[in-house]
Amino acid sequence: MNHEDSYDVIIVGGGPAGLSAGLYSKRAALKTVLFEKGLLGGQIAISKDVDNYPGVEGITGFDLAERMARQARSFGLEVEQEEVASVAAGGAMHSVRLGDGRVLKSIALILAAGGSVRKLGVPGESEYLGSGVSYCATCDGFFFRDKTVAVVGGGDTAVEEALYLAKLTRKVYLVHRKDTLRAGRLLQARLRSEPKIEIIWDTVVRQIRGARGAVVSVSLENLRTAETHDLPADGVFIFIGYSPNNQLIPDEVRMNERGFVITDDRCETNVPGIFAIGDLRQKFANQIVIAAADGCVAALASAHYVELRKER
Ligand SMILES: Cc1cc2nc3c(=O)[nH]c(=O)nc-3n(C[C@H](O)[C@H](O)[C@H](O)COP(=O)(O)OP(=O)(O)OC[C@H]3O[C@@H](n4cnc5c(N)ncnc54)[C@H](O)[C@@H]3O)c2cc1C
Repeated sequence: MNHEDSYDVIIVGGGPAGLSAGLYSKRAALKTVLFEKGLLGGQIAISKDVDNYPGVEGITGFDLAERMARQARSFGLEVEQEEVASVAAGGAMHSVRLGDGRVLKSIALILAAGGSVRKLGVPGESEYLGSGVSYCATCDGFFFRDKTVAVVGGGDTAVEEALYLAKLTRKVYLVHRKDTLRAGRLLQARLRSEPKIEIIWDTVVRQIRGARGAVVSVSLENLRTAETHDLPADGVFIFIGYSPNNQLIPDEVRMNERGFVITDDRCETNVPGIFAIGDLRQKFANQIVIAAADGCVAALASAHYVELRKER
């Protein structure tokens, strides 16, 4: 292995978590490379407006992603547009195999592969993303104050987000494909006592309709009767599943039952020198500011880890 093939830190994923880790790593003078298989910025690169990243007002996700990438590069972060195909935990050095076949080694490895929302796959969903279609009530609920929204799903997240939206909006329809909810009993009790929420049972969304660039209604089909109707709504919040991008996680690294990586307060996994940050790791909420903070923590902890390793 050449010196060029080994790093202090390798970062997998160039979303807010990975870019923040890259920035802090370079400021700590660590030899660092970041691999991104898609768009730098991750999920925010496809978000329309970001209004809740502290200190940055009125910015599109794309522009915020570009700023984060520019700032990290300004400290000398090496960024490669390449997919990481696999990751292997080692003793002194961990290794990554890239899509093009190269194998690189690093003392610390920061996994920042993020997560993916499950989509409905109906007409109008991609077209109106950011113009009425959302996968995040904390991010976008604010834009629907005193409006009517439909929430799709029946699990804990859908019910929690419906309750959150009920505080902001005029009316929330919870559209669920079955006649019972999967959400926990406590959440269901809170749901029943919220007068603004109406549940539409046994029903699926077939289409999201819009006019002049914004959502105006959802076309629904009752699975028992096959009847269809249009429900007027200004927004559609979809919570039918969110999965961590954990395909790369080595077997030795512990994950919870939902596949999120378990870390300590330094964002380090149970394998020394392997860190997991952002939406990939188990935590209370997924937001840009949290992903960026994780990147900072993991980079500072990696610096400490690399220093100790080099002293051995
Ligand atoms: C539509 C939408 C709107 C949102 N709006 C907001 C908002 O307004 N405010 C807010 O705070 N949060 C918002 N969020 C949530 C926020 O985007 C996430 O919490 C945040 O992006 C998580 O950052 P991350 O870096 O952990 O992961 P991600 O953003 O998911 O980035 C992970 C990156 O890793 C890359 N990757 C994955 N596997 C590999 C691999 N094998 N090799 C190389 N690269 C890989 C991916 O391509 C991706 O770019 C929104 C999310 C969505 C989906």
